[in-house]
Parts: sequence; C-alpha cells; structure tokens
Amino acid sequence: CGIFGVVFAERPGRPLGEILRRGLERLEYRGYDSAGVAVVDRGLVVRKDAGKVAEVARRYGFDALQGVAGLAHTRWATHGRPDQVNAHPHVDCGGVIAVVHNGIIENYAELKEELAKRGHVFRSETDTEVVAHLVEEYKRQGLDTFSAFRKAVSRIRGAYAIALIDAENPQVIYFARHLSPLIIGVGDGFNIVASDIPTVLDHTKRIIAVRDGEYGYITPTEVYIEADGVPQDAASRVEEIPWS
Ligand code: GLU
Repeated sequence: CGIFGVVFAERPGRPLGEILRRGLERLEYRGYDSAGVAVVDRGLVVRKDAGKVAEVARRYGFDALQGVAGLAHTRWATHGRPDQVNAHPHVDCGGVIAVVHNGIIENYAELKEELAKRGHVFRSETDTEVVAHLVEEYKRQGLDTFSAFRKAVSRIRGAYAIALIDAENPQVIYFARHLSPLIIGVGDGFNIVASDIPTVLDHTKRIIAVRDGEYGYITPTEVYIEADGVPQDAASRVEEIPWS
C-alpha cells in the first residue's frame, strides 16, 4: 500500500537500509500487512516479511543494509495471503531484478501462464511477481532494461504504482503509474520515488507528480518521464512544497 525508492550517487552517510526503514515508517499510516526492502550494492539483497515495520526491520536488520539504490514497500494483500513469500519486493528467476507494486494487475494470470511456458518459475501467489519476470524475459530477448521495462508496462492492465531495480544496472530506479499514487522527489545527488509527499519531505521539498499512464526512470542526477513512447518535460513540472 506504499512505495518508497531512492537512488544515491554514492553510499549515503547513514546506511541506505535505515533511510528505507524511516520511509516505511512514514508510509505506515496508509495501512499494511507486510513490509520489505531491496537494496543494490554489489548485488541484490531482499529482506521482507508479514508484520509491523519496526518488527520486520529489527528481525531482518534493515538498518545495517548498505547500498546506493533501494526500494521499500508496505503491502496491503490483494492476491495471495500476507506472508513472507508474498511480501514485496518480488524478484526474477535470475535474482537481479526486484519490483514493488501497489494496486492490482488484472491480467496477471494470462501473463503468468505465458511466462511459465517460457520457463519462468514463480515463487509467490501475487499479481505483482509477473512484472519482474516480464522484464527478465524482455532482457533475455535482447532489450536493455528500460526498453524491457517499457514493454513490460505496456503488457499489464489494471491499477499500479511500480518501482523496479536491476542489479546489473544499479543506479537506476524504473517507475510506472496508472490509477495508483506516485510522485518523484528531486534531490541534490539523489532522487526518490514514493507514494506520497510526506515520505519525500524528509529528504527534499521539490516534487514532480507522475501522471496516469506515465513511466520512466530516475538516476541520482536525472528524472526521465515518458508517456506512450513520447518523452515528457519533467523539469518544467517540478513543484516546491512550502515549509510547514
Ligand atoms: N496486488 C499486490 C499484492 O497483493 C499489491 C498490493 C498493495 O497494493 O499493497 O501483493
């Protein structure tokens, strides 16, 4: 039910896992049954389970996780019961792609069947997991990660806010939005994607509201947004949130 993702130019002063845990605490008011994080440093590390943020974070040592890019998620289960396997982030077969999602992917069953025929092994009962395997599949077919992500997003129907990382391309977070909230926080040496403004305000007052049907990526220094294959002017859409 909440997403927080951040990508830094270099390892931040505090461990990335601690920053992600604080982001999860900000998202708690939205309601949830499970929490999890993924960080990219030398490889991909995923820690997740059903339960309260504080408890899951303590049990899995979130605060000690180092990295330059990471995703955090609070889940409100719609497909698959609240347990460790169904908690987000979800990972591809190769263990390099991690994805978090809020909403419902309506055509996940067909996509899952198609991907299973191509040899993808699914671990969870969620609708979300198809996104990791779709991106993996299109990468296998020769696309770069962003092209694979764009193609994956074009295949899914329903409501979604999605954030995805690929350990083979570590300083990029890919995102997409349709009918679920998603904003970008524009920082100095970092950028953020999140479900709401309060989660971003700990780090920056400059935000961009992502619109329905848009997708793109953030790096520590760049925000790229596209809609229907057409680049959007992200820079002109930065809003300053007044100090409260
Ligand atoms: N449909 C997804 C699931 O059940 C995401 C739920 C959410 O929005 O947290 O895992």
